[in-house]
Amino acid sequence: MSETRETIPVVIVGAGVAGLTLGNILLCNGIDCIVLEKRSRAYVDQRQRAGALDRFGMDTFRRWGLDGVLEGDPIRHEEGGFFMDGQALPIDIEHDEDSGMFIPQHILVRNLTDAFLAAGGDLRYEALDVTLADINTEHPAVHYQDTDGTTHTLYCEFIAGADGFHGVSRASIPADTLTEYSHEYGYSWLTVWATAAASPAGMAIHERGLGGMIPRGADAARIYLQCPVGDTPEQWPDERIWSELEARFGTPVTRGEILSKHIIPLRSVVFDPMSYGRLYLLGDAAHIVPPMSAKGIHLALHDTDLFARAIIARTEKGDSSLLANYSSAALRHVWNYQAFAAWITDLMHNSGDTSYEGEFRKKTARAEIERMFTSPTANKLFDELTAGTN
Ligand SMILES: Cc1cc2nc3c(=O)[nH]c(=O)nc-3n(C[C@H](O)[C@H](O)[C@H](O)COP(=O)(O)OP(=O)(O)OC[C@H]3O[C@@H](n4cnc5c(N)ncnc54)[C@H](O)[C@@H]3O)c2cc1C
Repeated sequence: MSETRETIPVVIVGAGVAGLTLGNILLCNGIDCIVLEKRSRAYVDQRQRAGALDRFGMDTFRRWGLDGVLEGDPIRHEEGGFFMDGQALPIDIEHDEDSGMFIPQHILVRNLTDAFLAAGGDLRYEALDVTLADINTEHPAVHYQDTDGTTHTLYCEFIAGADGFHGVSRASIPADTLTEYSHEYGYSWLTVWATAAASPAGMAIHERGLGGMIPRGADAARIYLQCPVGDTPEQWPDERIWSELEARFGTPVTRGEILSKHIIPLRSVVFDPMSYGRLYLLGDAAHIVPPMSAKGIHLALHDTDLFARAIIARTEKGDSSLLANYSSAALRHVWNYQAFAAWITDLMHNSGDTSYEGEFRKKTARAEIERMFTSPTANKLFDELTAGTN
């Protein structure tokens, strides 16, 4: 069986938003890296996930000269789209036009991939059995196998673990040095991918549970239906999905073909610290937020921005202080947005379905929503958090 050995300054594990954004930034700044991705390009290119990118995310790409990755099928955030008890809410507030955009995550990832490859980046798909070695030394290594069975060893200075929540990077950190903080919300979302224009677009608060229909392109929508944790996709035939959505919105919705259905239990998780030796965790590898907050990409990009600056400072000036502070700086921001995510998730669910936290929480949640829509001060803070600039 053959074997190869190479040396490279940075190995990035995972070709998602965090890994590819980092790869592009490092390449633009003259720092060599190799990106290892477990899946094939065909698989990654069509993997449907998020769609909301906040202003911080847009600005991050622009700041690093990566504006081109925002092209494709983007849709501006639209106003309105808030339904309560089957009625559209008349919302009379000013929205910041530039607070974010919808760009399907697979299109963003495809654009990042194209940019990385066009710049001469080294991206290796179907990298199997990735293992990290000697991460607590100055000479870590990453081993993997390709589909021919050839074993590869990459000696490097730094490893970016950007391989998502179920990746191998975090699992390489000794368990007794890592603390997991997690919170289960007690309900799930049925998330559905459908070929239908999102109409009406927005979120619906209802005693039957939260509903959502969010655009993912001109003729594609992500549908969300709050459901019990124990539910399975088989319990949700297509007709039930459409009729439940209509019941929660209180109006007919544009129907289409349902392409996929998954159940996601809503939870928040943070791992502390976000670095160990020469391994640095980025994005979902270190934390997840419930999808209600739409802050997963924001956090992945914030980590990436911090880590890229730290590596550049170290490479260009020999200054390791940003690397030393990476975990604490990233975690400070992560907890700020975990707070926002927990608040918005509780608010949106408690204001409709009383079966989890009762009538009292419903009244307080509705009072908060009303304040959000009527108080300019409360609305400004909400806009800043939504835009990711607070
Ligand atoms: C239904 C849903 C809706 C969402 N909606 C939003 C939204 O609107 N806005 C938002 O901001 N966030 C949203 N999120 C969250 C968002 O998708 C994630 O936070 C984001 O993908 C994190 O990016 P990442 O690069 O850290 O990880 P990932 O996107 O998970 O990328 C990790 C990469 O690593 C690869 N990998 C895994 N294991 C290995 C291995 N062993 N070796 C090599 N490679 C490996 C994976 O294949 C993947 O390509 C949503 C998530 C879901 C599930």
